[in-house]
Amino acid sequence: MNLRRLAGLDILSEQYSYGHDPKFGYVASSKIADRWVRTTCGYCSVGCGIQIGLRKNRAVTVRANPDHAVNFGKLCPKGLSEHYTMTAKNRALYPLLRKNGRLTRVTWDEALSTMVQRIGDVQSRHGRESFGVLSTGQLVTEEFYALGKLVQLGFGTKNFDGNTTLCMASAVSGYKRSFGSDGPPGCYEDLDKADVILLIGANIADNHPILCQRLERNREAALIVADPRVTKTAMMADIYLPVKPRSDIALLNGIAYVLIREGLVRRDYIEQHTTGFDDFARFVEKFTPEHVARVTGLEEELICRTALLYGRANAAFIGWTMGVNHSTQGAETVSAICNLALMTGNIGRAGAAPFSITGQCNAMGTREAGFTSSLPGYRKFDRADDREELATIWGIDASRIPTSRGLAYPDIIEAAVAKKIRALWIIATNPVVSFPNFDVLKQAFENLEFLVVQDGFHPTPTTELAGLVLPAAIWGEKEGTYTNSERRVSKVNRAVEPPGEAKPDFDIFLDLAERLGVRDELFPNWNQPRDAFEEWKRVSKGRLCDYSSMEYEVIEREGGIQWGGSRLYEDGRFPTEDGRAKFFAVECEPFPEQPGGEYPFIFNTGRTVEHWHTRTKTGRVAILESMSPRAWLEMNPKDASRLSLKPHDRVTVISPRSRVDGVELRVTEIVAPGQVFMPFHYAEANSNRLTQSAFDPISREPNFKQCAVRVEKTPLPGKEATWNS
Ligand code: SF4
Repeated sequence: MNLRRLAGLDILSEQYSYGHDPKFGYVASSKIADRWVRTTCGYCSVGCGIQIGLRKNRAVTVRANPDHAVNFGKLCPKGLSEHYTMTAKNRALYPLLRKNGRLTRVTWDEALSTMVQRIGDVQSRHGRESFGVLSTGQLVTEEFYALGKLVQLGFGTKNFDGNTTLCMASAVSGYKRSFGSDGPPGCYEDLDKADVILLIGANIADNHPILCQRLERNREAALIVADPRVTKTAMMADIYLPVKPRSDIALLNGIAYVLIREGLVRRDYIEQHTTGFDDFARFVEKFTPEHVARVTGLEEELICRTALLYGRANAAFIGWTMGVNHSTQGAETVSAICNLALMTGNIGRAGAAPFSITGQCNAMGTREAGFTSSLPGYRKFDRADDREELATIWGIDASRIPTSRGLAYPDIIEAAVAKKIRALWIIATNPVVSFPNFDVLKQAFENLEFLVVQDGFHPTPTTELAGLVLPAAIWGEKEGTYTNSERRVSKVNRAVEPPGEAKPDFDIFLDLAERLGVRDELFPNWNQPRDAFEEWKRVSKGRLCDYSSMEYEVIEREGGIQWGGSRLYEDGRFPTEDGRAKFFAVECEPFPEQPGGEYPFIFNTGRTVEHWHTRTKTGRVAILESMSPRAWLEMNPKDASRLSLKPHDRVTVISPRSRVDGVELRVTEIVAPGQVFMPFHYAEANSNRLTQSAFDPISREPNFKQCAVRVEKTPLPGKEATWNS
């Protein structure tokens, strides 16, 4: 605070004086815009319509689009302050190359020619596949599609994955197993039309806040929330199911048992549209309410009441997010959810859906554009006709398209530890904070010969380790499309120029293609994202995610267009070989690291509404940071009293792998005895120093939600957590 302010002479009048906005009436003068640019929020997958207010070409405010079909004029705290991200002090401004141990400013020409030369050198010595790429759901679809071509056909490596494997891979795998393809079958309108809404491991009040409007509006629906933690969403529920960690599979199978026992199954739907029900019905015979009560910790009556509500509903909706996906059994849990929807015919109808609520703003777009777990347009690597079709569209020989997927994210890291991956390109993600078991990641990075990090922000804990930092444009500075959780393709627009020498990722990819000598072949006449979109329309034509009839202008005008219409599978036909969906028998297994002995607590991680992922975007937005400035650990009062800990004590959390010091303690019954919870946003109190290297064998998604820890009072009173402590 300056002296004038201390003396009361500076009352921040510039910031707080009022003026009259022709559109919005009296508002802070500093927020009166002379121009508005419509776009889509760049944080979560809800996909809210937003407009950026510009004055003299500077973003001074944001407003919700009042008539947008997703958010109806509302934004959450992150959306409401999103314009501040563009001018944040931690924006990456210039290419930086490590010289003599220091990141040193260089020209784009030097940066990109060094990148092509160093990666080429690594590949010539260790093979094409020694280069890996980790991308993100933060890119627009046009960029992601271009990147896939560049990586697999230009750099010639298939070891390409993204941070979506850390959040949505289990939903993708589960849908593929049960329905034959990825693609959430329902839409947000189902939350308005359902008469039972069951949310499992989905704290949407913190993570997808604008969806809560729908819960508030649909007062007639019974809201059931299953979560080990009494989240803000659980507090909204009519029925709260405090399941023990990782007992959700037992609950789902137990509901199936009761539905069969009570005759609440749709035999006609099962017979016409599914396979495997009889085996499944035999399998769930052991999931009696008594058994499920023992496994889940729920009362039998509550399990039966939930099943009866679900089974008797005209339209029942099951939504889930990371509580399901972040698990070594994530994909299987998704199949167990889909089992319930199939046996009751709660799919392809208004209000009825098994619905994965996606994480990032364009996680869906990356899933559709593929190149990681599938080829573009949900094509399969192992299908010759899919490869042939793509090769024809691209005018290349089909033999250049991989016949199997490359390494998934955790396997790329393991391969770096084993020195099979020698060069890594990370785009718009921050694995030092977001990847589990930091010590393994550290070892992987130490083994690399060359690490390139392309990001809109610097420094981040990951850019600080890079050999080369490429500064990228972010939301508000580039154009393209995002696809939200309900398959709504929305337009993303450029409102301002990127700062310094930062460039849109799209331009960086085309420049690299030029230097690799593949631009004319892979990206003929491409100069802007619209060119990629036009090709993507041809590539997706006739596929489940068909964009072929979409135009930028129409998407813009309509406030987004849902591919596949409002709902998929309305005719009961699924994209499997026989056109039928499949039932799966899913055992409920204990999570890999059980508490006990030295490590008596189950450690759970998650988010808070104010922050986004690892805080690279939100950590310098003053209003968000001041609302949630530091990490905390939630502990039940019984445990706190046993350990003689009190609220606001600084504690150390220790797992078999590492420790985090100086975390503020919150003593609260939000968590059950024996469990503790910590948000995963904070680099200086990095929960992923504690989490383990345990991954879903099907989806490769990490088991972020449970590991064993102990909690001690931090030895030095008042010692704050630091990033490298
Ligand atoms: S709910 Fe998600 S999309 Fe909507 S404003 Fe908030 S962060 Fe943005």
